[in-house]
Amino acid sequence: STQEKTLQICVVGSGPAGFYTAQHLLKHPQAHVDIYEKQPVPFGLVRFGVAPDHPEVKNVINTFTQTAHSGRCAFWGNVEVGRDVTVPELREAYHAVVLSYGAEDHRALEIPGEELPGVCSARAFVGWYNGLPENRELEPDLSGDTAVILGQGNVALDVARILLTPPEHLERTDITKAALGVLRQSRVKTVWLVGRRGPLQVAFTIKELREMIQLPGARPILDPADFLGLQDKIKEVPRPRKRLTELLLRTATEKPGPEEAARRASASRAWGLRFFRSPQQVLPSPDGRRAAGVRLAVTRLEVSLMFPKDTSFPGLCHPSTPAWCCPHSPQQGVGEATRAVPTGDMEDLPCGLVLSSVGYKSRPVDPSVPFDSKLGVIPNVEGRVMDVPGLYCSGWVKRGPTGVIATTMTDSFLTGQMLLQDLKAGLLPSGPRPGYAAIQALLSSRGVRPVSFSDWEKLDAEEVARGQGTGKPREKLVDPQEMLRLLGH
Ligand code: FAD
Repeated sequence: STQEKTLQICVVGSGPAGFYTAQHLLKHPQAHVDIYEKQPVPFGLVRFGVAPDHPEVKNVINTFTQTAHSGRCAFWGNVEVGRDVTVPELREAYHAVVLSYGAEDHRALEIPGEELPGVCSARAFVGWYNGLPENRELEPDLSGDTAVILGQGNVALDVARILLTPPEHLERTDITKAALGVLRQSRVKTVWLVGRRGPLQVAFTIKELREMIQLPGARPILDPADFLGLQDKIKEVPRPRKRLTELLLRTATEKPGPEEAARRASASRAWGLRFFRSPQQVLPSPDGRRAAGVRLAVTRLEVSLMFPKDTSFPGLCHPSTPAWCCPHSPQQGVGEATRAVPTGDMEDLPCGLVLSSVGYKSRPVDPSVPFDSKLGVIPNVEGRVMDVPGLYCSGWVKRGPTGVIATTMTDSFLTGQMLLQDLKAGLLPSGPRPGYAAIQALLSSRGVRPVSFSDWEKLDAEEVARGQGTGKPREKLVDPQEMLRLLGH
């Protein structure tokens, strides 16, 4: 029967990696793919990471929805793998299991004062304005006039942009109502983005930088001294970095035309890149109750082909840290690797809010799955988990937390390909597997009620309806209990 021939596969995580892997696997005519997701809603960082003022990036949701509508694909939200069901249980029920659960943690700064109120991870801040349930009550304190972001990647720029965008420009995005309310009251006028290295090592991309430079009501603060000698160096670097550096250089050193000069002069807000500074400590307010600044060590660059273990900057400079948002990894395009070494000088930067944006980090999901805690990835060869036949991985948990959705797509298709190759080579278990039927029984015995894709479509419709009154594309539901109630669970 067809049931006996069905290739039962499950994917853990419904972000881009999960959906693109599923899309590739469904090319096999006998494949059935179940996608398990811990949130009651799908799409991972497309919903909870991508900035609300970048709606075009979220168009990939249409492709994912098409995949979910395949008769051979099912979405099971509200199921946390490792808690509600284990990886061994999944492996028992399916011919193959793909782990695509992303990077749910942030890298700590590991400096004194990090735990003070007024310090938070960029990850939590992003989760807050995007309605991630666990961060919905963050309520960052925006009563000070200065915010410091530690990190110079795209996430750092996203956060800076959201902090400085006039709130009325966010009104028609899917930012949460609560976040918009707090941003309307914000007194933040200046945002510093601090990096340990220089302009040639920033980790953000040109599109995001350009957007920042053109941000309404805000002007850039760049120190021309940071750019001395750069003109000659950029001749040697690859084109994308060259263009990025040229834009920085122009902004820092060229006199703006009259129109731009007038725009900058009337701007009430500002953002700046603070280079060659490494955070040493979050400084407490006089009463010791909250953050009041950051102590920075001044650095200079040293060229090194090897990265010796650097203990002078705890937590900040692991050489293998890949960087979607971390300025500390060797950047392509700078010729040799460079590292920041302290000059001995210190500087205190007062601020009311400190946001650490030095990278995301994956967590181990289940003791039965190998995990490289140093690199924060599941050890694998082209998506095949080392030493565990039938187990695969894709996306950020496979490569580390770096790369845009397009990178994640390519990488996930590759994992799908490897899995189908293994199937052809007879490396997957033969004989029928029960798939969801077995897992459903387990979940129901544990009192877990999965959310299907058609359930999500009801929540989606509710969000869109709630947004309509105020001209927003949607008003996100942020409380899982409310979501389940709406579904009659
Ligand atoms: P994720 O998208 O994180 O998906 C992982 C999924 O697994 C999540 O839904 C999670 O809830 C689920 N999960 C986790 N643990 C479990 C578990 N135990 N059981 C079940 N499910 C679980 N890229 C762009 O191209 N453009 C952008 O503008 C852009 N902006 C970004 C902004 C931010 C703030 C960040 C952090 C990233 C951004 N990216 C952007 C990068 C992009 O989001 C990633 O490349 C992509 O989301 C990685 O996909 P993933 O599926 O590996 O991880």
